Amino acid sequence: MKRKTVKEILKNSGELTGKRVDVKGWVRTRRGNKNVQFVALNDGSTINNLQIVFDLSKFSEESLKPITTGSSIHVEGELVASQGAGQSVEVLADTLEVYGTSPADYPLQKKGHTMEFLREKAHLRPRTNTFGAVLRIRHALAYAVHKFFNDKGFYYFHTPLITASDCEGAGAQFQVTTLPLQELPLNEDGSIDYSKDFFGKMASLTVSGQLEGELGATALGLIYTFGPTFRAENSNTPRHLSEFWMIEPEMAFYEIQDNMDLAEEFIKYCVNYALEHCYDDIKFLNDHFDHELIDRLKFVVDNDFVRLSYSEGVKILEESGKKFEFPVYWGVDLASEHERYLVEEHFKKPVILTDYPKEIKAFYMKLNDDGKTVRAMDVLFPKIGEIIGGSQREENYEKLTKRIEEMGLEGMDWYVDTRKYGTVPHSGFGLGFERLVQFVTGMQNIRDVIPFPRYPKACEY
Ligand code: ATP
Ligand code: MN
Repeated sequence: MKRKTVKEILKNSGELTGKRVDVKGWVRTRRGNKNVQFVALNDGSTINNLQIVFDLSKFSEESLKPITTGSSIHVEGELVASQGAGQSVEVLADTLEVYGTSPADYPLQKKGHTMEFLREKAHLRPRTNTFGAVLRIRHALAYAVHKFFNDKGFYYFHTPLITASDCEGAGAQFQVTTLPLQELPLNEDGSIDYSKDFFGKMASLTVSGQLEGELGATALGLIYTFGPTFRAENSNTPRHLSEFWMIEPEMAFYEIQDNMDLAEEFIKYCVNYALEHCYDDIKFLNDHFDHELIDRLKFVVDNDFVRLSYSEGVKILEESGKKFEFPVYWGVDLASEHERYLVEEHFKKPVILTDYPKEIKAFYMKLNDDGKTVRAMDVLFPKIGEIIGGSQREENYEKLTKRIEEMGLEGMDWYVDTRKYGTVPHSGFGLGFERLVQFVTGMQNIRDVIPFPRYPKACEY
């Protein structure tokens, strides 16, 4: 017989009732008595289990012994309307094949393990309800990202993961080298001779695909990237990973207003897509961890984001009378506690903050007429803080080269060529994919929304 997934069986239970089905999966629980045994079977296709009923007049107790939590089985039998509460249909098993037993030391025996415990068992945690839900939502969001941009006429543009440009300034980089670390080749002045390295120069893992993305946008018009990003910052926070996925759209002929409109529409689209396609999983997380999750997601979809300038934001923070851990003043790089105050306590809505002091933002952002601020835009979210960072880019060749000189950046000829030949106003932003998954799942820690998290001192599997 052709196997069906649990999801297919439950979805089509109406027409399948009374028919034989073939199903395979992992045992979540087994319970029952001398006459009948009930198995909750899960195959990962959905959060919902399928109940399998073993009648002990057909199966010996001995033959059911290998069916323990975590074991893997194959069952055929008739799908019938369920007698018990809790499920609409169940399978009356008439064949049983055990693929793999699961000894009593299986770590996921009980419900209610802590996230910390499960992080230690990250090789098995996808088999739990919680991580199954998170990973299915993660998949749906990734699909939504591609669908959103594809439907809008954007091209998926692949920027390099290994790069020799260290000018993004977004964070510390991981170096990529094949040089022997015990015996480094040196120049006469004692510095490392990178001409002997694999690429003949110093290379690193990318912290952002933006600069290369701009090369794509100034040719294809509308592009987005969606790929791994690496930052060697030693930040042990619930919002930072050393390896994460970033989505970076870049748009020719977009000014900052267009950029904000796109960012807002994009996030709402993704959140709404998850609500429509992953409701069972979101409901599970809502009921077990975060009772306000669904309300919060609907609120974001249904309400306009607040838009205001950094200067106005700082004024609100200064006048709030609130004691922050880090002091607030014009010019400060806002900390997460400041961002979350604006979003969660003052406006109670997502906020897009614009026009930051140029000193705290990257060199490529377009300078405003005041000469002090740049056309940056950060999208700030409840629970998360910054979810998107973006800007209108400086398209003026003289202003950009002056800024590059001021900052002492080198090797940027290829980048400024976009301004030298046929420059256009353009804009873009970066969305940290895991922060989006965190928001949609309500998970407290970003380490729990990626299958195998990398963070300082943690690189397992
Ligand atoms: P933060 O201030 O929160 O550290 P950032 O300003 O350094 O972020 P950007 O360089 O603007 O971040 O990157 C764009 C987006 O990438 C951020 O808005 C955030 O969603 C995400 N991001 C940045 N750093 C990380 C990280 N270490 N782990 C996960 N996501 C990140
Ligand atoms: Mn940022």
